[in-house]
Amino acid sequence: MAYGDRYEMVCGIETHAEMATKTKIFCACSTEFGAAENTHVCPVCLGLPGTLPVLNREAVNLAIKAGLALNCEIASTSKFDRKNYYYPDLPKNYQTSQYDLPIAKNGWLEITTDAGGKRVGITRAHMEEDAGKLVHSGETITTSSAGSSVDYNRAGVPLLEIVSEPDLRSPEEALAYLTSLVRILDYAGVSDCKLEQGSVRFDVNLSLRPKGRAELGTRTEMKNLNSLSAVRRCLEYEAERQAGVLDGGGQIIQETRTWDEGREMTLSLRSKEEAHDYRYFPEPDLMPLRISPAWVESMRRALPELPEARRERLIGLGLSAYDAGVIIADKDLALYFDEALKTCPDVKTLANWLTSELYGLLNARGESLAACQIRPAALAALVNLIKQGAISGKMGKTVLEMMADTGRDPEDIVRAEKMTQISDAAELSALVDEVLANNPKSADDYRGGKEQALGFLVGQVMRLTRGQANPALVNRILKEKL
Ligand SMILES: [Zn+2]
Repeated sequence: MAYGDRYEMVCGIETHAEMATKTKIFCACSTEFGAAENTHVCPVCLGLPGTLPVLNREAVNLAIKAGLALNCEIASTSKFDRKNYYYPDLPKNYQTSQYDLPIAKNGWLEITTDAGGKRVGITRAHMEEDAGKLVHSGETITTSSAGSSVDYNRAGVPLLEIVSEPDLRSPEEALAYLTSLVRILDYAGVSDCKLEQGSVRFDVNLSLRPKGRAELGTRTEMKNLNSLSAVRRCLEYEAERQAGVLDGGGQIIQETRTWDEGREMTLSLRSKEEAHDYRYFPEPDLMPLRISPAWVESMRRALPELPEARRERLIGLGLSAYDAGVIIADKDLALYFDEALKTCPDVKTLANWLTSELYGLLNARGESLAACQIRPAALAALVNLIKQGAISGKMGKTVLEMMADTGRDPEDIVRAEKMTQISDAAELSALVDEVLANNPKSADDYRGGKEQALGFLVGQVMRLTRGQANPALVNRILKEKL
């Protein structure tokens, strides 16, 4: 039986996003993904004795931007602290993080699910350094791993940890929250949000409580989930597991669990650590951070248009909420659309050609918009040709395919392929006369009330012109003559 009949889920999520700086947070090593192991390292990020960190100003800029985009208060005084723990991926045996004075706190973001709109609280957002990466040679960390190697390229990459309030009540809400959060960080330029490269990871905590009870249940935490789908499946599994324990009269143990992607289940990893286990203390090698109102304001001005503002603007231009949603869901698509809009006045037709025709074509070919040969201005030109009646919509689809193949402009293709549509009334009128003379029975049928006969007659004109006649005009002329 589904847990939702008896229990309410209470879920909060910590999101770790790698910030899009060129260099690490405390040294000048590159943050580029995919380099050979241990090539982006130096004495500072390897934690060699005697080295000193230097804070990367751009990381602070991005953290402020993220805080503003998430409606947070930006701290005027912030500082770094050492979080002490031992793990081989952490060369210093402590992580430079932020404890009691995070750079941003008390924010929120808006989500929409089938249950309606809802505001999800952001407790805080703080900066920290990423750890290195352990590569286990077994299947998973818990099964027969023969050994592990460590790559410190990631050690010292700036992270922003965004902590939500335990406001999420279902896997759907968790998904809506993460989708919205990742989109905001992407639009704001805080993170490239390449989940498949691990640049955003999630820790989720979950407890159940009997429906109607205010008191919170004991929670478990699942760490290092790296996709939205893993978060959803993990929450569904863990909620059912906890419900099973509670239904059997058992107690939930507060612990850290791991999500085993292969087996689709959570497994106990260790008892949950408390903040005092980490022996946090202020980082003596870094000065406290003073953030002036002017600094915050300059970051506010530097923020680009965010997804929700963009959605409202597109709806204001005449797009349906659905179309606006499809376009803002993907930053590349949204920027492409805006670029094309500059030279195409017909917002709705442009949206349709972008989200249906062009996207359909790219999907069928397995290509991405970024790699597509059709530039925004060229798509705009194609839509304009159709709206002006120079070519039909059907011809437009053929032209679009040729554009995708060759990168040529639509005007060039239409000219070279002699694809222009016949919209000359006199020329079409003569053709209509010819068709009527050759098909007297169909003409009589139509006059007698058979509406379908008109379609046949239009088809005859289209055939004579090999599809180049303007169908709307042919229709009108035929009706006039009948
Ligand atoms: Zn370094």
